[in-house]
Amino acid sequence: MNLDLLKRLSETAAVPGREHRVRALLEEEAAGLFDTVTTDPLGSLVCVRSARGPAAEPPQRVMVAAHMDQIGFLVRFIDDDGFLRVQPVGGFDIRNLFARVVTICPDPADPSRDLRGLMNPGVKPVHLATEEDRKKLPDLTDLVIDTTLPAEEVKKRVKIGDMVVLDQPFVDLGPAVAGQAMDNRVACWALVEAVRKLEADATPHPCELHCVFTVQEEVGLRGALTSAYTARPHVGIAVDTTLCVDTPGGVPHQQTTAFGKGVALTVMDSASIADVGILQAFERLGEANGVPTQRSILMRGGTDAGSLQRAGVGARTFTLSVPTRNIHSVTEACHKADLEACRDLLALFLAEAVPSAPG
Ligand SMILES: [Zn+2]
Repeated sequence: MNLDLLKRLSETAAVPGREHRVRALLEEEAAGLFDTVTTDPLGSLVCVRSARGPAAEPPQRVMVAAHMDQIGFLVRFIDDDGFLRVQPVGGFDIRNLFARVVTICPDPADPSRDLRGLMNPGVKPVHLATEEDRKKLPDLTDLVIDTTLPAEEVKKRVKIGDMVVLDQPFVDLGPAVAGQAMDNRVACWALVEAVRKLEADATPHPCELHCVFTVQEEVGLRGALTSAYTARPHVGIAVDTTLCVDTPGGVPHQQTTAFGKGVALTVMDSASIADVGILQAFERLGEANGVPTQRSILMRGGTDAGSLQRAGVGARTFTLSVPTRNIHSVTEACHKADLEACRDLLALFLAEAVPSAPG
């Protein structure tokens, strides 16, 4: 399992609209696997691999979307003392955001200009806080970043709109891996590794593959929408993370998936309902090849499939999901068995002729 690639993807900063660094990394990884690799106007990386072996003329087009962006912040305000305030891009829970080291990225493409900061809500320290103060949950707008640098230097190096991400190294826990941006670097990883497998085994595939690493998913499935107009897919597959609330504090009927029990076949979420024929095809491929799968419904939230389904004349869509504990925090954890299942099932699906009639 190519964990080194997943580590590099997880530790590379890319928030919505600032996906440059992950795109550059994936562009390197895509070399030799595709016929064309281009960046579209919004910034999505579009990798096309023509059909291999016998194919219909013209071949069916399958688009697979894996979003590159992670939830993060943009600098919103710099005060006279050099303290920064931020605007979230993506859905954060304030309870996960106290006492964090952050990286401020003045150049979306160049890490050499990054600087570090400490993020805390602008509240009194515990020694001075009243009982009433301690009960109050701060708001995202209360978060303050302290670089400790003099104000003039901060203003020289940092501008409104600069990307800010939380710091968290990738951790190998044994059965699972954890870190930040598992949502959705695990899908970027699975997609690259699935195509690498097809290439290495010289596996024929009757479909033209449009593997698109999309932008701005976390702020409304934006990149997938525009790239679907170019790819005009017959079948659209989103690969993403999904909830895994099988830990203390969750209730069984809301756990969504079980950790380590296989890749999730998402039946529906807030943005789309899966094509039944494709759902059944994934399930059948899993059973026939010994790849564990679990059906799942996400009660709230959506994936790029919502955009793929509705762009142009529409497409038959499906979401393949990796169960993820502590989602939208920097301790997002994915089980290695589920990651392997995601990669393998995706490769099996891409190698097979897609079902011809809508389900
Ligand atoms: Zn996601």
